[in-house]
Amino acid sequence: MILLISDLHLQEERPDITRAFLDLLDGRARHARALYILGDFFEAWIGDDAMTPFQQQICQALRRLSDSGTAVYLMHGNRDFLIGQAFCDAAGCTLLSDPSVIELGGERVLLMHGDTLCTRDLGYMKMRRLLRNRLSLWVLTHLPLSMRRRLARKLRSESRAQTQMKATDIVDVTPEEVPRVMAAQGVLTLVHGHTHRPAIHKLVVDGQPARRIVLGDWDRRGWALQVDEQGFQLAPFEFT
Ligand code: MN
Repeated sequence: MILLISDLHLQEERPDITRAFLDLLDGRARHARALYILGDFFEAWIGDDAMTPFQQQICQALRRLSDSGTAVYLMHGNRDFLIGQAFCDAAGCTLLSDPSVIELGGERVLLMHGDTLCTRDLGYMKMRRLLRNRLSLWVLTHLPLSMRRRLARKLRSESRAQTQMKATDIVDVTPEEVPRVMAAQGVLTLVHGHTHRPAIHKLVVDGQPARRIVLGDWDRRGWALQVDEQGFQLAPFEFT
């Protein structure tokens, strides 16, 4: 059995989400062969050298899971793209590039965070190109901590303000972009997060029936995609 989750937005201010995640690690994830975390695992990440005690605690919990034999894979989201190799080494997880194609449930499956599918949000796409290249990443991770904290706060408040102003269909995926990307990668199943609109959408890729599975964000409840002999099951679960 394999589990896929995303958009937990782990933060000290939401102990209920943290608890639910730790419960998942001690429960269902223990029995999983692999756990895939498809981005926005943390609400914010300003560098592996700036881990808070809270983030250390999450790191150690992941480590216990990977030590117990469950492979843990982590993909960057738009909130935590500064997670680096040092964190992954400490947590015992493997950083997955976005996009990645893996073998899952007997087929080739495309995994993405999902932000790059929202191509109509031109402002965001421009900002992403600006921040997510090698040079910017190097500069960002070498800025003094105080400056990184200030920058992170600024980016978050701007993103909040803009999301409220943007039409709701801009912050969802571009419908034409999905089959284009899937055809280019030669897959009939795509799993992504980011949009906080959990669903399984049917579509046609290269004349064949295909599906786009959108993972849910963790807020009032959690979401996980479980892949086993029964197939792909996307389901919410209550926090206890
Ligand atoms: Mn996101």
